[in-house]
Amino acid sequence: MQTLTSYVQDRWIAGQGAAVPLYNATTEQPLAETRAGGIDFAAVLKHARDVGGPALRALSFGERAALLMALSKAIHAAREELIELSVQNAGTTRSDAKFDIDGAIGTLAAYAGFGSALGSRRFLVDGAGVQLGRTARFWGEHVLVPRLGAAVHVNAFNFPAWNMMEKAACALLAGAPVIEKPGTPTALVAWRVAELVVQSGVLPAGAYQFVAGSVGDLLDHMGPQDSLAFTGSSATAAKLRGHANLVRQNVRINLEADSLNCAILGSDVDSSADVYGTFLSNVALDITQKTGQKCTAVRRIFVPKDRVGDVRADLAAALSKLKVGDPAESDTRMGPLASASQLRDVRAGIDRLAAHAEVACGGSKPIREKGYFVAPTLLVARDGRDAAFHAEEVFGPCATILPYDGEPATACELAALGGGGLVASLYSNDAATIEQVVLGLAPWHGRVWVGSDKLADQGLPPGMVLPASIHGGPGRAGGGEELGGLRGLAFYLQRTAVQGFKGYVESSFGCAPGA
Ligand code: NAP
Repeated sequence: MQTLTSYVQDRWIAGQGAAVPLYNATTEQPLAETRAGGIDFAAVLKHARDVGGPALRALSFGERAALLMALSKAIHAAREELIELSVQNAGTTRSDAKFDIDGAIGTLAAYAGFGSALGSRRFLVDGAGVQLGRTARFWGEHVLVPRLGAAVHVNAFNFPAWNMMEKAACALLAGAPVIEKPGTPTALVAWRVAELVVQSGVLPAGAYQFVAGSVGDLLDHMGPQDSLAFTGSSATAAKLRGHANLVRQNVRINLEADSLNCAILGSDVDSSADVYGTFLSNVALDITQKTGQKCTAVRRIFVPKDRVGDVRADLAAALSKLKVGDPAESDTRMGPLASASQLRDVRAGIDRLAAHAEVACGGSKPIREKGYFVAPTLLVARDGRDAAFHAEEVFGPCATILPYDGEPATACELAALGGGGLVASLYSNDAATIEQVVLGLAPWHGRVWVGSDKLADQGLPPGMVLPASIHGGPGRAGGGEELGGLRGLAFYLQRTAVQGFKGYVESSFGCAPGA
C-alpha cells in the first residue's frame, strides 16, 4: 500500500502513527494511506518564514510569474496521469477530472499572466495619491507589500488539484511561501501534484511544503505575519475562526465554506426562449458535474409556481437519461461520490429534505452494490419558504425546485434565506428584472451570474470559478474572497499608508512606472 509522504523542510518524510486509508471510490478498494504524526510543525512554519519567504521576496512580481508558468507547464505535462488518478481516487469521470486538473493548470497560467504584466515591481500601489495637509507638500500613498509569514492552505477534498494550486498561485505571486494540506479522501491526486511541483525544481527552497494527513498542532504555532486560507465545510470553518492561537495572534484568515447556491428562473422566460435551454442545461450540469460535489453547484432552483410542472418534467427527463456508473467508462456521465462518509451524509441529507418534498427523480436508495454511488436527485418542495431547504447543504447530486410567485423581490428574499452564498444565477431577458434581482442578490452573494438569450452558448456556466473574477461569499459561505485577478494577492500583502513630503512619497511610492 502506498503511503503518501509529506514534503517538509525540503525533504519527503513518511508520517507516523495510525494510518488513514484512501479508497477507489468505484470499487472501494484501498489505494493509499496517510499517517499524520511525526512532523515538527513549528519547524515547518519557521522554514517557510526563514528560507522560502526571503527567497521569494528577492524576486520581482514578473520573476515570480515566470515560476508559476513553469509550474503550470510541469503539471500539464502529467495531465493524463493525473486524470487517471482522479478517476480512481476521486471517482470523477474524465471530464470532471479535467475540470479540476485543467483548473489548476489554467489558474497558474492566468496568474503568470497577471504577474508578468507587473514586470520588475516589488510592491503594488493601491489607488491614486492624495493630498493630506493644507498644501500638497503633505502627501499620502497606499502601498501593498509582501507580508513576512507563511501561507497555510487547508483545502477541501473535492478539488484536490485546483484548490491547492489556485491558492498557491496567489500566494506565491505575492511572495508568500506556502504550506499545503489537502483534504484526505482525495489526497492521492494532490500528492502527485505536489510531487510534480517538487520534481520540477522550479521553486526556491522553503517556498512549497505539503502535508499529507492532519496538520496536527500547526495552527498553535502560527504568528501575526502568517495567514490561513481554508476551504471546506462551515462546521470546520467555525472551529478555525475560533481557534485560540489564531484569535490571540490575529492571524489573517480567509474562509471559503459551503453554500446553498441558487438559480432563479425569471417569470418573463417561457419554454421557447433560448435562455430556458441554458437554464435547463446549467442546472442539470450543476447537479451532476463532479457528482454534485462542487461548492458552486446549485442547491435551490427558484421557479415561478405556474412553471414548476414544466421545469420538473424537463429537468427530470434530462437527469434520468444520464448514465451513472464506472467513471472510467467513456459513456458514463456521473461517477460515485468521493468517499464512504460522503455517501452516508448525502443519503441522510436527501432523506431529510425529501420529507418536505416530492421526489421528481433519484432518491437516497443504493444504485450499485459497490462504490459510493447515488442517483441524480431532483426534489420539488411543497413550500418554497420551508426552512429545511435554506439550511442544509447536501453535498452531492441533489437540488430542489422551490416555487415562488414570479416577483423579483420574492426571489431575492428567498435567496437570502440561504444566509450568504458563493453564486446565484438568474435567467431573464428583462432588463428591469435583471437590475432589480442583481442588486437584491449582491449583498448576499460573492458572484451573481446572469443568463439571457443574448448570451446563449457564449457564456461559461455559473458553477465555474474563473481566476479573473472573485470567488467567495458572505455569511454561511465563509465571508472570504479569493482570486479576482490581482485582488487575490491582497490577502498575502500588507496595505500600508505612506505619509510624508510629496516629493519623496510620490516619486517612490506613487503610480509612476516601476513603482
Ligand atoms: P471539511 O471536512 O471541512 O474539511 C476541509 C479541510 O479541513 C480538510 O483538509 C480537512 O482535513 C481539514 N480539517 C478538518 N477538520 C480540521 C481541523 N479541526 N483543523 C484543521 N483542519 C481540519 O470539508 P470537506 O468535506 O473536505 O469539503 C466539503 C465542504 O467544502 C463542502 O461543504 C463544500 O461546500 C465546501 N467547499 C467550499 C468551497 C469554497 O470555495 N467555498 C470549495 C470546495 C468545497 P481532512 O480531510 O484530513 O479531515
